[in-house]
Amino acid sequence: MVGATFEFFGRVNSVRIPFNKPFVSQQARRYMLESLDSGHQSGDGPFTKAATEELLGLIPARNALLTTSCTHALEMAAILMDLKPGDEVILPSFNFVSAANAIVLRGATPVFVDIDPSTLNIDASQVAEAITDRTRAVLVLHYAGVAADIEAIKAAIDGSSRRIEIIEDNAHGLGASWQGQPLGTFGSFSTLSFHETKNLQIGEGGALFINSDDPKFMERAEIIREKGTNRSRFFRGQVDKYTWVDIGSSWLPSDVSAALLLGQIQAFSDTQKRRKEIWNTYHEQLCPWAELHGHRQPFIPPDADHPAHIYYLLLAEHIKQADFIESMSARDVHVTFHYRPLHLSTMGKQVSRTVGELPVSVDVSDRLVRLPIWPDMSDSQVAQVIDAVTQ
Ligand SMILES: *Cc1c(COP(=O)(O)O)cnc(C)c1O
Repeated sequence: MVGATFEFFGRVNSVRIPFNKPFVSQQARRYMLESLDSGHQSGDGPFTKAATEELLGLIPARNALLTTSCTHALEMAAILMDLKPGDEVILPSFNFVSAANAIVLRGATPVFVDIDPSTLNIDASQVAEAITDRTRAVLVLHYAGVAADIEAIKAAIDGSSRRIEIIEDNAHGLGASWQGQPLGTFGSFSTLSFHETKNLQIGEGGALFINSDDPKFMERAEIIREKGTNRSRFFRGQVDKYTWVDIGSSWLPSDVSAALLLGQIQAFSDTQKRRKEIWNTYHEQLCPWAELHGHRQPFIPPDADHPAHIYYLLLAEHIKQADFIESMSARDVHVTFHYRPLHLSTMGKQVSRTVGELPVSVDVSDRLVRLPIWPDMSDSQVAQVIDAVTQ
């Protein structure tokens, strides 16, 4: 692969810096082999239990369940909420598609609002405006793992006569906190992704966290994840046969995936340390250049501790995003844009409601670029990126 890339770009002394390179710890490799030799490879085996406990150490919710993806965890949350046609869920348009799909798959309506230009998170003042008597939830994304303004969102929904849940799509936010409280513990439900682009990666995978102390949610979540059967209760000896009791799907990951995950979690504090070093180096060394040319660097509110998931730049208006990405590519650095506003997408136009014009989402989408950040990046690679940007 490396050889092929080398030849393709026809360079001799320069090695292309990818946007992302998934990290795999030695412990993850060992656990995966152990799992393969153990005779238990389907889900809910010993590695699933151990990895779930470790995750609950990082995000102390009431309950957690490993899932096959964050997308599936969001779909489970939508089922657990009993979302149905006519219901509305408020979410930012500058977003990944899975949050919107989870709503639409239940026949409910996504209601898109704009983002705050400083944090790129859902604009809480627009949440209040978007609430109707059909609103069931606000689905929050902590963009780049920087906490959304949960307090302002809570204040907005407290004014409503109906109960409105907060769901956190925490795909970016593992290891992050707000006023010392881990992200993923604020909403009724929260989700994680272990996709290879995320801070804790196993290729594909995810988790659902349940913060309610009502045991019915965890009981039902186990059923939904096991094809709508009560097989989990059967395995625990609580029923003598298992049967079809609810809707569901196959969202239980294999114990081999969980073994990888356990090994990755054990390396998480080291990989986070390196990501933060890289993030901070970008932030410090790009500051004079950004100020001189009118580019904007990430803003971190004082109460937010972030996990260095993304290093983005908002390019000055006279610089075209595509031109910047192209010029970085010519310097062997892979830089990428991010979300296109969902309210303007083919599907979004058909199935959603939008409150106002959402100008910030459109503007940010056209100006944001993300720099390479991954745990094995060397200091000289980081320097190469900085040189390429400021050259
Ligand atoms: C990556 C991501 C997802 C989807 O995660 P999968 O595990 O690939 O399903 C959902 N939401 C956000 C914000 C993401 O970044």
